[in-house]
Amino acid sequence: MFGTARSFGVTFAHMFKKQVTEKYPEVRKPTAPRYHGRHILNRHPDGLEKCVGCELCAWACPADAIFVEGADNTEQARFSPGERYAADYQINYARCIFCGLCIEACPTRSLTMSNEYELAAEDRRDLIFTKEQLLMPLLSGMEQPPHPMRLGDSEKDYYVKALDNPGLSAGGEMSPNEERRAAAAAGTETEFEQRLRDDAAVREDAKRRPKRGRKQEEK
Ligand code: SF4
Ligand code: SF4
Repeated sequence: MFGTARSFGVTFAHMFKKQVTEKYPEVRKPTAPRYHGRHILNRHPDGLEKCVGCELCAWACPADAIFVEGADNTEQARFSPGERYAADYQINYARCIFCGLCIEACPTRSLTMSNEYELAAEDRRDLIFTKEQLLMPLLSGMEQPPHPMRLGDSEKDYYVKALDNPGLSAGGEMSPNEERRAAAAAGTETEFEQRLRDDAAVREDAKRRPKRGRKQEEK
């Protein structure tokens, strides 16, 4: 009897509490700054890719969600400083559990996580994000690879500086919340907001790449 009355008391008390219904998706509540969202493959300030195709992220992943295929840079076609780059890179968000072990394993801070969480899709093949989708868009002052090293003569000039001062990798490692605040202050859109608007086109592009999807499924 007392238990029943107490239960009704809890229900009754809630009738007078402030409602916390969130009007998603019209109003998107900002996440915690260190929320684990979708990944980003970062670039150096001259546009070269930070990823060296080492596959450490793929080996660290407990869900087998990452596929990396490395290849050699040449002086005619250079995508990253140093010897190797990722010719192909995929993350399967149908498998990813957003644990962050991959970004801990990455020796070059190429791979980081954003606060982006809108990853639903009707077809699971659309959840396999390709390198083109994961790569940070070119910011002002960056040049589309392949191109020669612009920041120094050796890979050390890139990676030692970048690790000592991650802020040099402008944009790629800025938290999306910081980026949103900066864009709002400037009255512009963030790179991510622009990318979200292009989402439909990106998904169509992914559908035209069944071969890449099969690679993941065959693993
Ligand atoms: S966040 Fe975790 S599950 Fe997702 S790709 Fe990285 S290591 Fe794998
Ligand atoms: S993202 Fe990092 S760990 Fe993964 S292949 Fe590239 S450099 Fe290696």
